[in-house]
Amino acid sequence: MTATPHHPVIYADPERNTLARRLEQAVEGEVLFNRADRGRYATDASIYQIEPIGVLIPRSFDDVRAAIAICAELNVSVLPRGGGTSQCGQTTGPGLVIDTTKHLNRLIDLDLDAMTVTVEPGMVLDHLNAELKPHGVWFPVDVSTAAQCTIGGMAGNNSCGSRSIQYGNMVHNVASIDVLLADGTEAHLGPLRNMPRDNTRVGRLTHALIEIGERAHDAIDENVPNVLRRVGGYNIDIFNPQGPRPYTSDGQPNLAHLLIGSEGTLAMTRQITLKLSPLPTHKVLGVVNFDTFYDAMDATQHIVALKPAAVELVDRTMIDLALDNPAFRPTMEKALIGNPEAILLVEFAGEESADQAGLLDQLITLMAGLGHPGSVIPLASAAEQQALWSVRKAGLNIMMSMRGDGKPVSFIEDCAIPLENLAEYTRRLTEIFHQHDTSGTWYAHASVGTLHVRPILDMRRGGAEKMRAIAEAASTLVRQYKGAFSGEHGDGLVRSEWVAWQFGPTLMQAFQEIKTLFDPQGIMNPGKIVNSTKMDDTRLFRFKPDYQVNPLVSGLDWTDWDVHGDAKAQTTSAPGTGDDPSGGFAKAIEMCNNNGHCRKFDAGTMCPSYRVTGDEQHLTRGRANTLRLAMSGQLGPDALLSQEVHDALDLCVSCKGCKRECPTGVDMARMKIEVLYQRQKAHGLRLGNKLIATMPKWAPLAARFPWLFNLRDKLPGAAWLSERLLGLSARRSLPVWRKDTFIGQVESTPAEEADLVLFVDTFNNYLESENARAAYRVLTAAGYKVALAQPAADDPDSKRPLCCGRTYLSAGLIDEARKEAERVVHALAPFVSRGLPVVGLEPSCLLSLRDEFLVMGLSKQARQLAQQSFLFEEFLAREHEAGRLHLALQSLPEKHALLHGHCHQKAFDAVTPIQVVLGLVPDLDVKLIESSCCGMAGAFGYEASHYEASMKMGELSLFPAVRQAQADSLIIADGTSCRHQITDGTQRHAHHVARVLERALAA
Ligand SMILES: Cc1cc2nc3c(=O)[nH]c(=O)nc-3n(C[C@H](O)[C@H](O)[C@H](O)COP(=O)(O)OP(=O)(O)OC[C@H]3O[C@@H](n4cnc5c(N)ncnc54)[C@H](O)[C@@H]3O)c2cc1C
Ligand code: SF4
Ligand code: SF4
Repeated sequence: MTATPHHPVIYADPERNTLARRLEQAVEGEVLFNRADRGRYATDASIYQIEPIGVLIPRSFDDVRAAIAICAELNVSVLPRGGGTSQCGQTTGPGLVIDTTKHLNRLIDLDLDAMTVTVEPGMVLDHLNAELKPHGVWFPVDVSTAAQCTIGGMAGNNSCGSRSIQYGNMVHNVASIDVLLADGTEAHLGPLRNMPRDNTRVGRLTHALIEIGERAHDAIDENVPNVLRRVGGYNIDIFNPQGPRPYTSDGQPNLAHLLIGSEGTLAMTRQITLKLSPLPTHKVLGVVNFDTFYDAMDATQHIVALKPAAVELVDRTMIDLALDNPAFRPTMEKALIGNPEAILLVEFAGEESADQAGLLDQLITLMAGLGHPGSVIPLASAAEQQALWSVRKAGLNIMMSMRGDGKPVSFIEDCAIPLENLAEYTRRLTEIFHQHDTSGTWYAHASVGTLHVRPILDMRRGGAEKMRAIAEAASTLVRQYKGAFSGEHGDGLVRSEWVAWQFGPTLMQAFQEIKTLFDPQGIMNPGKIVNSTKMDDTRLFRFKPDYQVNPLVSGLDWTDWDVHGDAKAQTTSAPGTGDDPSGGFAKAIEMCNNNGHCRKFDAGTMCPSYRVTGDEQHLTRGRANTLRLAMSGQLGPDALLSQEVHDALDLCVSCKGCKRECPTGVDMARMKIEVLYQRQKAHGLRLGNKLIATMPKWAPLAARFPWLFNLRDKLPGAAWLSERLLGLSARRSLPVWRKDTFIGQVESTPAEEADLVLFVDTFNNYLESENARAAYRVLTAAGYKVALAQPAADDPDSKRPLCCGRTYLSAGLIDEARKEAERVVHALAPFVSRGLPVVGLEPSCLLSLRDEFLVMGLSKQARQLAQQSFLFEEFLAREHEAGRLHLALQSLPEKHALLHGHCHQKAFDAVTPIQVVLGLVPDLDVKLIESSCCGMAGAFGYEASHYEASMKMGELSLFPAVRQAQADSLIIADGTSCRHQITDGTQRHAHHVARVLERALAA
C-alpha cells in the first residue's frame, strides 16, 4: 500500500497509524508499516515470531534521533536491528524496528597508529575487513555470519568467532561506543577513568554504575562463571573481572563493555570504535580425524596446549550433510581419512611460516602420542583452508537443511564447559537427547568449550515441552561442570529466563538496576535479559499452536519436501507423506530458517535483487517469509495472489542463485514459477507477458517476416508505444529476427547412427543461429555424428521446432510448459533410450531439462533425459577428460578472454567446463568475472518496470569488468540475455563459447 498526498495510508491500529504518520513527517528514511513489511521483520534466526509495530530504515542518524524521541513520547518500544541473524530471538519484538544496514553502514575513521577503526553500527563485518585488508590489519572477531552480521549486532550480542581463543570475544575488542539513550541523551562510553562524574545525565549514570559494581562485588565472585566464553546477562564483571582473559590491558573498567551483549536493551549504538589486529601472514590447518566423537572431545584439552588460533569440531552428521551438498562435497572429501566420526580443524597462525609448520608437526606428534597416529591431514594452501572454513562456517546452515517439521532447535546450543569436562558433558547430554526421543548434531568451537548442539524438535508438535525438559537437564550439567549456559549467542527470548538461574538474585537485581539507569522508561528492546517471558511461551513461536497452511493445488511437484522427519534416527519419510495441504510447497518455503546467509554481497550469485536494493523485501529471506505468511493465512485470505506477494517476488530474477547457495536449499526461482502459476490461473496474464511467454509459438512466423517483427526498433515512436502497451522498455533494443534460422539448414544424422543429439533452443535457432551453426561445426569437426532434436513424427505440432518451455515457465504457464516438455521427452526418447547425450547451447533452456522437467509430472523418461543432458561445453569437457575429444584448435588473434557465467550455469556448477574447453585454445588467457546475475534474466530486463534494477545488477561487477577489459579481449557469455545485457551496458559484443571454438578450428 503506497500513500499519496490525497490518500494517506490508514492502518487498522490507531497507535500504529499515529506512529507511522509522525515518523513520515519527521524522517527522511523509509517508514515501512504494511502487513508484509511487519511480517518480514517479525523473525530472526530463532524459533520466535513477534510482529513489530512497524519498521524504520533510517537515512541518517538524525532519523534515529527523531524516531526514538517519537517512540519515547508515544511509549512505543524500540528494537535496533542489524542483519537480524540472532538465534535467540533478540531481534524479535513488538516495537519499532530500526534497521541500520541500508544506510548507517560507513567506516568513519581508521587510525592505524592507534590500531583502531570507528564504524557505524550497520556495517557488515566482511565489508569492514575487506576495507582493512590492504592495510594489513583486520577485526578478528570472525563470527560464522561474517558476510551478513553487522558490527552493531555483534556488539549487541557480544559475538565470538572461531578464533576467540586467540583474540577473545567482541567485548575484548571494543575500545568505545557512542550511544543514544531513549531519553535523547547522547553518550560516549569508554574507559571509566575518562567518564564524567559530574551532575550531567552521563555523570550520574557513571556514578550509579560504579556503585552497583561495588555492591555486587562478592556476588560477581560467586556467580559469574570463570570460562572463556560467557555472554549472558550484562557484563557487570567489568567491575570485578572473572574470565581468564581480561577485558582491558590495564585491568581498568571500560563502560563500553557494559553495552556489549546488552542486546539493544540499554541504548542505540551510533558508532563503535574497534581495536584492530595485524593480519596473520601465515596460517596452517591440520584436520584431525577421529574414530569416535568422545576421542575428539577428549583430545581438545591437549591440543589447546599447542596454542592454536582455532580448534573447531565437525561431527559425523555434519560431515554427511556436507558430503551430500554439491557445493561442499569436494572440499569435505579432501579433509577425510576413511569414515571418521568427527574431525577437528586445528589452525595455527602467526608471522613466520616455519613456526606454523613446526606447530603442525607437533600436532601430528601429539596425536600419535594420544593414540591417533596418521590422523592428521595438513592443509597448507590458503585456498584449501578457506574452502574448509567455509564448510565449517556453513555448519549450522547445513544442519538446518534437514527436511520435515522436525528441525534442529537452538536453546542450549552454546553452553560453555571447561575443556577437561567436555567429553563427559557431550556424552551425558547425548543420553538426555535419547531419553527425549531425539538426537543432536555437534560442531563448533571446541577450543573454548563452546560446542554447538541442537536437538531436533518439532516445534508444532510437543517441541515446547521437550525443549524445557532438555534445557532443565542441560542446566544441571552446566552447573555441575561450572560452565556458562550461554557461551556465544546471548539471551534473547530463549534464554533470558535463565539469566536469574545463572547469576542469582543479587546480580539479577543489579541487572534490573542497570536497565533502569539507562532506560528508565523501559522502551529499549523490552523482555530481553531482564523482565523476560518464558522460553516456551508458544504464543511467541514462529509456528504457533494454531499455525496452519492453506490448501493449494500446486502446478509443480513439491512432494520431495512433503515429508515427516524422525528426530532420533535423523531420517525422513517417503515424499508426499508429510500431510502438507499444499503438497509440500509450504514445507519447501518453511525451509528458510532466517539465518540471513542470502544477505551476503561479495561472493556467489545470491541474491542480486538484494544487492542492488538493500531491501529485506527483495531478499530471498524476505521472499520466503512473505510466502510463508501468505501460505499460513497471516497476510489475509488468498494472500498468494496479493499485491504484497507480487511486490516481494517482482525483482526476483529467477537466477537460481539461492537454489545452490542457500544452505537450506530455498529455491525461490521455482517458488516464483508456482506463485505466477497460481496468479495467472486466477487473473490471466498481461498482454506483454503473454507475448513473450508464447514466443516459441509465433517465432516461426517472425522468421518468415522478420522485417515486420523488427519494426519496433525501426519505426519512430514504436518503442515508446511498446512501453505503453506491452511494458517493454523503450530504452532497450529488442533481439533481431532473421530468416536464416538453423533448423532445416543442416542434415540430421538418423538416431541409430548418431553419437549425440543437438538440442537447439528457440533463441539460438531464430535469433543467433550462428551459435548453433558454430556448435554443429565444432562437434562434427571433432568427429561426432550429430542428430538434431526435432519433433517426433506423431507430434500434432510437428512443423514447429522443439522448445524446453522456459518462456512459459517464466510467466507461470506451467501447463503450457508441460506440453512443450512432453514434446521434448517424447521426441528425444529414441536417442535417450540408446544412451545418447543430449547437448544444448542456451543454459537456461538446456538446464530446464535437468531441473524443472523433474517437477512437472512427466514420464519416467524425463529423469533419464535429465541424466543425459549436457551443455555444449559440459559435453566437450567430459569428452576431453575421458580422452575422447579430438579437436584440432589453433590460437586466435585475441590472447585474452573474459568469461561471464550464466546464473543457471553457476547454479548447476557448470562454469568450470567452459574454462576447461577454452583452455584447449592455444595461448588464450581466460579470466572469470566474479559476477552475480547480469540483470537481464530472460525477459526481466526488457520490462520497463525492471530496467533500472536490471542495469544496476549489471553495474555490480559485470559491466565494470567488461569496460576494463582490453579492447582486443574476447568477451564470452553463453546466455543469450547475458550477451544482450553486456551490449546494452558496455557496447561490447559478447560471444557464445561455441563461436570461439569454431573460430579456433584448425583450417
Ligand atoms: C548460521 C549462524 C551462525 C552463527 N554463528 C555465530 C558465531 O560464530 N558466533 C557468534 O557469536 N554468533 C553467531 N551467530 C549469531 C549472530 O549471527 C551473531 O550474533 C551476529 O553478530 C549478529 O549480528 P546481526 O547484525 O545479525 O545482529 P542482529 O541480530 O540484527 O542484532 C543483534 C542484537 O544487537 C542489537 N543491535 C543491533 N544493532 C544495534 C544498535 N545499532 N544499537 C543497539 N543494539 C543493536 C539487536 O537489538 C539485537 O539484540 C550465528 C547465527 C547464525 C544464524
Ligand atoms: S533464504 Fe536461505 S540463505 Fe536466506 S535466510 Fe532463508 S535459509 Fe538463509
Ligand atoms: S532466484 Fe535469484 S533473485 Fe530470486 S531470490 Fe533466489 S537469488 Fe534472489
